[in-house]
Amino acid sequence: MHHFTYRDNELYCEDVPVRLIAENVGTPFYLYSHATLKRHFLAFDDAFEGMDRLVCYSAKANTNLAILKLFKNLGSGLDIVSGGELYRGLKAGFSPDRIVYSGVGKRVDEIDYALEAGILMFNVESLEELELINERAGLLKTKAPVAIRVNPDVDPKTHPYISTGLKKNKFGIDGKAAIEGYHAARQLKHIKIVGIDCHIGSQITDVKPFIEALQSLKDLIDEVKEMGSKIKYLDMGGGLGITYDNESPPHPKDYAGAIAASLKDVRLKLILEPGRVIVGNAGILVAKVLFRKSGTGKEFVITDAGMNDLMRPTLYKAFHAIEPVARFEGPQITADVVGPICESGDFLALDRKIADVKRGDLLAVMSAGAYGFAMSSNYCSRIRAAEVLVKDDGFYIVKDRESYMDLVKGESIPPFLEG
Ligand SMILES: *Cc1c(COP(=O)(O)O)cnc(C)c1O
Repeated sequence: MHHFTYRDNELYCEDVPVRLIAENVGTPFYLYSHATLKRHFLAFDDAFEGMDRLVCYSAKANTNLAILKLFKNLGSGLDIVSGGELYRGLKAGFSPDRIVYSGVGKRVDEIDYALEAGILMFNVESLEELELINERAGLLKTKAPVAIRVNPDVDPKTHPYISTGLKKNKFGIDGKAAIEGYHAARQLKHIKIVGIDCHIGSQITDVKPFIEALQSLKDLIDEVKEMGSKIKYLDMGGGLGITYDNESPPHPKDYAGAIAASLKDVRLKLILEPGRVIVGNAGILVAKVLFRKSGTGKEFVITDAGMNDLMRPTLYKAFHAIEPVARFEGPQITADVVGPICESGDFLALDRKIADVKRGDLLAVMSAGAYGFAMSSNYCSRIRAAEVLVKDDGFYIVKDRESYMDLVKGESIPPFLEG
């Protein structure tokens, strides 16, 4: 359930007509519903009612400061994957002791930043990283709290690019090596073992892979405990999927119920890192139809949003429903909905049945709240879209549309090219 609904054939976000926002901020823009964001976060968190847990919203799905702040206010922690996300998280007011840091390629400056901030834990993805964190913590005269990210070798049955828990993926450390990692960690003076972690992928629409992963982790937890290390946290990562088209992912309650059943007597604080499931269906991308054209046996709807605004269709052949902001009767067309960029991969939808829209019509690209703006770029020197948050009958620009000046920020022409 979300708050993008039609009233008299006009699309609203909560109590605001989408058209009204387009008239005020121009297109394209991302539009988020406060009520939906809040509802999704609370539904997820409440699903784990009665369990000792910390939900750490995964920043990379949507890193807008306003969105981070909203989750912070709702009691969320934060899952980060870069120094930049740590900066955003702290700016949004997250307490560092509610921040977990994952990622295969943490740089020295990022590790130092996280150590100085005093984060809850590092999810360590290699033995070399473990050694580096130990070294940096020593220099900074502190102890680094770590979990080892285990690669449990389970198939999450999702797109290969967002599958992260298979042996062939670059993420985590596989079972046996993870045990060696814990042995190694015990010898390191500036490392404190606090947890165990996994994250098997994204857009997962079945609980089974999660439970398989959890089973591997439980076996490892026993071994780590036998070593005499005290683990406090079991981090299950994120990855729960959403409905883009006709997927039927488990409700957070079913996901939580399955985890609870499998955990039974494991007495660890559960950490969860949901991203997409919270923000995905809480946002849309609004674009304008620039032109229509007919190729040989092909209809094209050309919009002012392209792959630089929403990368998912191009990158993963991802499906996003596309609806006219003003709905009308009449036969539909089958068309490629494409952007203005000079690449044939620049499309929002291929061979899609949609309304027979014309120049100037507004389109809503649905389910665009996760990995939408966050993955956008300036390719073709296109300025990035504005972001707008609706609450009840008010709307708030939470990120200005970029300007041409923003495009050249930091660029300079060396003197030898002048004159
Ligand atoms: C991306 C990511 C998440 C969030 O994944 P979703 O599929 O959006 O829930 C959680 N944890 C880690 C380590 C990630 O890289």
